[in-house]
Amino acid sequence: MIASPEILDEVAGLRLELERHNRLYHTLDNPEITDADYDALLARLVMLEDTYDLHSPTSPSSRVGAEPLPGFTQITHEIPMLSLDKVFDGDDLRAFEGRILKRVEIDGEITYSCEPKVDGVAVSLLYENGVLIRAATRGDGTVGEDITHNVRTIRSIPLKLSGRGFPSLLEVRGEIFLGKRGFAHLNEQARLDQSKVFVNPRNTAAGTLRQLDSRRAAKVPLQMYCYSVGLHEGGKLPDSLDGVFISLAEWGLPTNPQRQVVKSIDRCIAYCDELLSIRNALEYEIDGAVIKVDSFNLQSAIGTNARTPRWAMAYKFPAEEKSTRLIDVEFQVGRTGTITPVARLEPVFVGGVTVSNTTLHNMDEVARLGIRIGDEVVIRRAGDVIPKVVRGVPGSVNPNPRPIVAPSHCPVCGSSVEKEGDVLIRCNGGLVCGAQRKESIRHFASRNALDIDGLGERIIEQLVEAELVRDVADLFGLEASTLMNLERMGAKSAEKLVAAIADSRRTTLPKFLYALGIREVGEATALQLANHFGDLSVLQEATIESLIDVPDVGPIVAEHVVSFFANTANIALLARLQECGITWPKISVASGESRPLIGQTIVLTGTLEKLSRNEAKARLVALGAKVAGSVSKSTSIVYAGPGAGSKLAKATELGIEVDDETALLGLLQSLESSLKSID
Ligand SMILES: [Zn+2]
Repeated sequence: MIASPEILDEVAGLRLELERHNRLYHTLDNPEITDADYDALLARLVMLEDTYDLHSPTSPSSRVGAEPLPGFTQITHEIPMLSLDKVFDGDDLRAFEGRILKRVEIDGEITYSCEPKVDGVAVSLLYENGVLIRAATRGDGTVGEDITHNVRTIRSIPLKLSGRGFPSLLEVRGEIFLGKRGFAHLNEQARLDQSKVFVNPRNTAAGTLRQLDSRRAAKVPLQMYCYSVGLHEGGKLPDSLDGVFISLAEWGLPTNPQRQVVKSIDRCIAYCDELLSIRNALEYEIDGAVIKVDSFNLQSAIGTNARTPRWAMAYKFPAEEKSTRLIDVEFQVGRTGTITPVARLEPVFVGGVTVSNTTLHNMDEVARLGIRIGDEVVIRRAGDVIPKVVRGVPGSVNPNPRPIVAPSHCPVCGSSVEKEGDVLIRCNGGLVCGAQRKESIRHFASRNALDIDGLGERIIEQLVEAELVRDVADLFGLEASTLMNLERMGAKSAEKLVAAIADSRRTTLPKFLYALGIREVGEATALQLANHFGDLSVLQEATIESLIDVPDVGPIVAEHVVSFFANTANIALLARLQECGITWPKISVASGESRPLIGQTIVLTGTLEKLSRNEAKARLVALGAKVAGSVSKSTSIVYAGPGAGSKLAKATELGIEVDDETALLGLLQSLESSLKSID
């Protein structure tokens, strides 16, 4: 349908009006209309655009998201996105200025631009003639991912710049984050829908940006603050960061309201202290401040190191600490019987997450902390690290103190407890122990073991508690009619589970060995054992001496393997499992010929996205490579994924070849398939 001039006017008006509300809502945090009224305006715009075919990539209607993408495209940053050096106190910040003054001669004080270090995801936005044409993650600083589809849904990011005077090509950099209110709202919704709650705002923001379906991203109220400009052509920018911030704001881009320009490093330190004192009152999570030399001329005179600018510094706040009450200590039994004390805490929000329990590791740690049940304790949490009880609060009132006592018997099965080494305690119950049974079944069914789809934790719990399954071999005798009696299990899912259990019987020897849960035998070791011995019956007869010959197997692992296969209960279990029909393809024992990577030392760093780290390592080792944890002169090649840091830098420094995960996959696939054709 052809749109009349009135309709065209209305569409243009709605677009302007909606963008104005987007800015009021997020940038200025000062909405004029309710969400419902906003949605009504947006619905009217979408309807008109659909009816008259007036779609435009810069229309606010594109913020609702679009059809999912098939995958992510990689983007190479024209100017690398450097990372920042960091300091932890005022003295180190003074030393930072000291190094600057050694490099350049300056009359008077240096002017610095200070801003909060927002705990989010660094991104790059590219505007061409004022229109947002591309958004990308930082990635490893050189190569990131195209996330334009998701960034379009962020209401405070202009799809079209306002005002005038912007360069015809302008790359804006900043941090995308999820505010505290948005995070709380999202979790409220998740609880209402009984879906999974989100752990912390940063991970939620990162996960949202990596959605292929932008309609989902549109539901998360992400925000952004710009912190610098990258590539720019066709136009002039101010000669200071402060000037740039002012321009960015004029063009409609969100900048941090807490930013400040100060003269002298002492003022910077005062800024950091002030920011730390208001940290909890801010609407978003921060983990420090960023201090940058304000003048661009001075910045270029000072220059950059290989990966970090010399004119900028991150001032990291200390890990956040909060005090709360230790309500109780429970003892948890793991798969191998290890008993761990776990602190139950009065819930406390610290370092961006609510903490209500955390491990105390072992009884030595409990003794070192000197805490009792009922005490007030200090919890510390920084970044993604597990929250930690750091100390008791001295002099706190505890009307009813109870000592934390290691159990003399297993809290789950009542078997006796043995001490292992100095600090570990372990239940002697073996498969008598319900906790160990549950854990061993869960491990057996897990993705990298027999991979039984649909056998979740709650089902395992019920199966073990009802004594329907005593060990993993019992799984194969389960019938749909029995499973249907479990909670939340319909006829259809019961049948599906029985089929999944039956399917899992066709596996591989490495997966089967890993599934058995022999102590210290992870995926990589299981693969080594399988390749070395080729057959279960040969491995069962192996001696400690012959086991030590296997790459990566030391005396402790060898001993665990031998004692596992010497245990009569385990021998019986293996026989029963084989009777149940578990099979795997034969393995031809590896010879030098089939291990083409012998002599190569490979380092993996950063995030691998298609392979698990363990799988990549196992497959490389199977081909004869040594996989090392650090880069040295003897490293043959480094495979680096996004987020690679010091190892990548070291490799570059030593001139060692670096490649990416795609290349690694290619190598594995070509070598493995050529070996198959030899067989
Ligand atoms: Zn037990």
